[in-house]
Amino acid sequence: MYDLIVAGAGPAGSTAARAAALRGLDTLILEKETFPRYKPCGGALSSKAASLLDFPLPGDICERTITGARVHFCDRVLEKHKGYNLTTLINRSLFDYLLLQKAKEAGSGIKTQKVVDFQEKDGHVSVKTNAGIYQCKFLVIASGCQDGLKNRILGPNRKESMGVCLVAEIEEDDGKIEERLAGTLDIHFGVAEGGYGWIFPHRGYYSVGIGGLSSRLRSPRQAMLQFLKKNGFSERQRLHGHLIPQGGNKTKAALGRVLLAGDAAGFVDAFTGEGICYALASGKIAGQVIGEVPGLEVAKAYQERCKKEFGEELRYALFFSKMMYSYPEIFLRILACQEEVLDRYIEIAAAKISYKDFMCWMLPRLPLSLLRTL
Ligand SMILES: Cc1cc2nc3c(=O)[nH]c(=O)nc-3n(C[C@H](O)[C@H](O)[C@H](O)COP(=O)(O)OP(=O)(O)OC[C@H]3O[C@@H](n4cnc5c(N)ncnc54)[C@H](O)[C@@H]3O)c2cc1C
Repeated sequence: MYDLIVAGAGPAGSTAARAAALRGLDTLILEKETFPRYKPCGGALSSKAASLLDFPLPGDICERTITGARVHFCDRVLEKHKGYNLTTLINRSLFDYLLLQKAKEAGSGIKTQKVVDFQEKDGHVSVKTNAGIYQCKFLVIASGCQDGLKNRILGPNRKESMGVCLVAEIEEDDGKIEERLAGTLDIHFGVAEGGYGWIFPHRGYYSVGIGGLSSRLRSPRQAMLQFLKKNGFSERQRLHGHLIPQGGNKTKAALGRVLLAGDAAGFVDAFTGEGICYALASGKIAGQVIGEVPGLEVAKAYQERCKKEFGEELRYALFFSKMMYSYPEIFLRILACQEEVLDRYIEIAAAKISYKDFMCWMLPRLPLSLLRTL
């Protein structure tokens, strides 16, 4: 009988297992892939997300420091830089591997097995994998948004609250990357319905991708090929597709002895698609709560703490996203044309300002901003 079993060893799962193991809980991670494994991702670790780590990241994981953003919309291009780190571009595969090693060091067990089912009964959870059956007092489902385990709590994925992404890693000479983008995230609006395209300057390669709402982005492949071509990349790339949840919606994140963390719970910024931050935050809360709160109160305490720590941020991100994509010609134009708006917005990544503060700052300025974009 384990105190905790964690399904999935992404940032949410490994962080949950580590937090629980550090509190002396008998913890087991069940992960279907052998690590290090590939995960489709832009690899942008915001300073806000990095601040949640209590250990330094080695140089082979940190590929570039980002201090600014270049935003494109229709025929407009605007670039803003800060004198500090907004985001670090990481090697995602090595990052996840490090988090898993940290969980192991803290005392968590790990088995390479796929969780196929679970059942809560008589004060514990029975977890079935492709290789055996395990018992635990609590189960954290951190198996991402494409896996079906979370649906037992949430119901099937709803197309209108899912995003779809396509990404390619494109090798390039570092000198050329430096010349093109240096410490800048390149963001293109208007190339994928309900989302955007990105070119991120990693070390020795670009992460190039598009993401948009599943209900609106009819031909993701077509949009990606056009995006590649328009930005001077060959269309013959290995493309990786992946779903991404739209965060900020009111959904359950726990039931009885089963908690959902990270993408499985839908904890993603609906506008930017940033999810690593909330995977780390929710994983940590899950491990802490299981170690600290009496059994019957765990589900409630977990949901309350997630809501308190980042619920409002995700709700405002969803509101912002709906506003921007409902009237893109108006609102995206403001973001892509007005220096002070972009200058403020990029501060969110470094947690210098919250979405709520940004919205409170922006809303009274809207009438003037609208006039200025005409
Ligand atoms: C194309 C793309 C680009 C993105 N770019 C960024 C970015 O730049 N910055 C950012 O912050 N966020 C980004 N995100 C979001 C981010 O990748 C996710 O929010 C984050 O990975 C969530 O972490 P997680 O631990 O919840 O899930 P995951 O990272 O998806 O990990 C889930 C793990 O569970 C395992 N698993 C799945 N099913 C089972 C099972 N049944 N049994 C056992 N193991 C299982 C998987 O193998 C995997 O290792 C991006 C997402 C996409 C799709």
